[in-house]
Amino acid sequence: MNNDYDIIIIGSGAGGGTLARHLAPSGKRILILERGSWLPREPENWSASEVFIANRYTSKDTWRDKHGKEFQPGVHYFVGGATKLYGAALYRLRKEDFGVLKHHDGISPAWPLGYDDFEPYYSKAEQMYHVHGARGEDPTEPPCSAPYPHPAVSHEPRIQKLADDLKRAGYHPFHSPCGIMLNEANMPYSQCVRCEDCDGFPCLVQAKSDAEVLGVRPALEHSNVTLLTDSQVLKLVTDPTGKSVSEVLVDRGGKTETFRANIVVVSAGAANSARLLLMSANDKHPNGLANGSDQVGRNYMYHNSQAVLAISKEPNPTKYQKTLGLNDFYFGMKDFEFPMGNIQMVGKSQGPMYKGEKPIEAGLAPMFTLDFVAKHAVDFWLSTEDLPSPHNRVMINRDGQITLSYTPNNQEPKNRLYAKLKSMLNHLDMHEHLIPRNLYMKNEIDIGGVAHQSGTCRFGTDPATSVLDTNCKAHELDNLYVVDTSFFPSIGAVNPALTAMANALRVGDHLLERLK
Ligand SMILES: Cc1cc2nc3c(=O)[nH]c(=O)nc-3n(C[C@H](O)[C@H](O)[C@H](O)COP(=O)(O)OP(=O)(O)OC[C@H]3O[C@@H](n4cnc5c(N)ncnc54)[C@H](O)[C@@H]3O)c2cc1C
Ligand code: SF4
Repeated sequence: MNNDYDIIIIGSGAGGGTLARHLAPSGKRILILERGSWLPREPENWSASEVFIANRYTSKDTWRDKHGKEFQPGVHYFVGGATKLYGAALYRLRKEDFGVLKHHDGISPAWPLGYDDFEPYYSKAEQMYHVHGARGEDPTEPPCSAPYPHPAVSHEPRIQKLADDLKRAGYHPFHSPCGIMLNEANMPYSQCVRCEDCDGFPCLVQAKSDAEVLGVRPALEHSNVTLLTDSQVLKLVTDPTGKSVSEVLVDRGGKTETFRANIVVVSAGAANSARLLLMSANDKHPNGLANGSDQVGRNYMYHNSQAVLAISKEPNPTKYQKTLGLNDFYFGMKDFEFPMGNIQMVGKSQGPMYKGEKPIEAGLAPMFTLDFVAKHAVDFWLSTEDLPSPHNRVMINRDGQITLSYTPNNQEPKNRLYAKLKSMLNHLDMHEHLIPRNLYMKNEIDIGGVAHQSGTCRFGTDPATSVLDTNCKAHELDNLYVVDTSFFPSIGAVNPALTAMANALRVGDHLLERLK
């Protein structure tokens, strides 16, 4: 096998898969190295107990927390990366997220580029990932140069009622931006069948807008693109000057193989990209590749997230629940001037899922059986920004095992957002007054909930405080790029994938210029 390429992309998720598709028509020889396999298409894709209890699609990795205690992170190593399991809520960051934002616990820093630099790429990413939505409903929506490529996914009756109740109470619910290939106008021809097993599940019928279906597969239609699965990159080797990556060492079935390319793009996910750079330390880069500034691995963020569940007075037979969002408190509220974050619906909870989460707290009336709760649950996801801190970081031990040292910050706005939603339930036909306080179950997302991991290799103009330049090229190397969520200098309070996709398209344009 000829192991020389123009470009090597390491990791095939939101960043890498999108970049591969964007670069594919160039005719350049592109190699995608993916540590995982194709996610098997099997009935278990849609089994709540297999996915949520048996963790069928979660990696067996163990990482350590700051106390050295091992935990199993919720990471997914497959072609398409985490997007195979994601909820496909494809939000743009708010325009203000690109500037300095004053938070309760400090500052969310400005990005080196503004929203306007990203806007055209957000529009392209929305096209590529078939995003459905409705402009003009969300009061915090940034300016957009194009309408959503597909109409908003309709609310099912209980969620429509929730939207109506919210509006009546003076709020501004909006149709969430959803990445599913649903054609409600012509269901017999719709790829998506609108099921209840979407958020957190793989899609059995390949109708979710994930990076395998809409990134890697279209890229592979070009004969110049090669994908190697089950190929874990172990180390990046530099030339004697230390200025460029000369070799990529890959574990393939227990054997180490060497690949070379003019340009190497790392997109292994925020934690694993940092790990790879740290594992690639050599004489010229004693603290890890591109880490002269000691920034690699630092500023890890993953959102202050809360999954909460309220019990509707009426049954909630909704199947696809993720259609509604609420940003009225994104930048704060009366009596609390700091940003609080985003509220959105999360996939409908189902009886078998509860066992996999915290046991339902005591205090529920006996008639609230799991079955009853499942039938009446209305499920919300609350995201508050966690602020970048140099002390929140990915480190590795001698064996390459990840330590995720993380201390939560910005908890007050998280608590306020929770309390605010709780105070609203009364007006939303939720069963609150029947059971005090512990009516609904609150699952903290602990350190293993790394779904929204980002930071660790932030981009910037100052090599002393950032790892990457504004093209996401490592300051210290000529041919090394990073295009996953590692590059985020701050995380905002909306889901991160669309920003990773848009950025991959932006970096892709730069690479196409460079390769001319
Ligand atoms: C359950 C769940 C729900 C989510 N819901 C949403 C949502 O609704 N909206 C949203 O915006 N985001 C959501 N996310 C987050 C979203 O999926 C991620 O932000 C996004 O996929 C990150 O893209 P990435 O390119 O940084 O990493 P990934 O998509 O994780 O891709 C990294 C890839 O690199 C591969 N890899 C790792 N190490 C190596 C190595 N050494 N060699 C070769 N390959 C390697 C991995 O196998 C993986 O394929 C969700 C995530 C999860 C887990
Ligand atoms: S709702 Fe649609 S995209 Fe999501 S898993 Fe079901 S069929 Fe697939």
